[in-house]
Amino acid sequence: MERSFEAYFRQNRLPHLWCPGCGNGIVMKAIVQAIEKEGLTQDNTVIVSGIGCSSRASGYMDFDTLHTAHGRAIPFATGVKLANPELNVVVITGDGDCTAIGGNHFIHGCRRNVDLTVVLFDNNIYGMTGGQASPMTPTGKKATTAPYGSVDRPFNACALAGAAGATYVARSTAFHVKHLTDMISGGLRNKGFSFIEAMVQCPTAYGRKNKMGDPAKMMAWMRDNAVMKAAWDKLPEGEKQGEKFPIGVFKQEEGVAYDVAYEKVIEIAGGARK
Ligand code: SF4
Repeated sequence: MERSFEAYFRQNRLPHLWCPGCGNGIVMKAIVQAIEKEGLTQDNTVIVSGIGCSSRASGYMDFDTLHTAHGRAIPFATGVKLANPELNVVVITGDGDCTAIGGNHFIHGCRRNVDLTVVLFDNNIYGMTGGQASPMTPTGKKATTAPYGSVDRPFNACALAGAAGATYVARSTAFHVKHLTDMISGGLRNKGFSFIEAMVQCPTAYGRKNKMGDPAKMMAWMRDNAVMKAAWDKLPEGEKQGEKFPIGVFKQEEGVAYDVAYEKVIEIAGGARK
């Protein structure tokens, strides 16, 4: 069996620390397969992550990598991209990292259309940092900070990214591996802010608290509730309720990327890159 993806991992850092049955490894593998598919290399691609379970991925990936501070992956990545626009910059983040402490960086990265591919591993909870409710914990679901169920309404991160100005927005799940890889590939091709929400099963912090069963059952839940966007768009409004959710590309449009706009300013100011 061809296992070309293994070349993209630091074998001396494995095995990983994720819990048995966690979906993070599936998404990490989908990212490297998308990188390979798009013909990008380990030398021209930088992986930047924040803090949390998913953000540990940067330590396992054999690229130039930056494991940064909680919520701050997008500003670090913006700096990398502006310093060397030739680089492909991928951000790995979690729902807590990206939409809570990093929420402002997220919306302003979208607004500026910074040429980054941001993959949000959405496990619906803070995992590593203690099982607290995140801004993407569904209403009524339990967490250590919501023992009777969260009263908050969750963010729809895809809608938020699109409204804030991201030029490519997509969602998939750890069950739909081929589809997920294609969604990430589309983001890598887009010249501008690309946002991909990758739903992952977290059997330890989220699944156990919410009695969702073992990892296989959690993946079956994704299989049974995800609806391809084309089919979703044809559903009557009344059937878009409950636990069903759409997957696919929600937004794809042209827009001036931030590094291109910034180059123009350098030119007007009479400067030149060394
Ligand atoms: Fe994965 Fe959840 Fe364990 Fe974190 S706590 S490693 S997200 S299963």
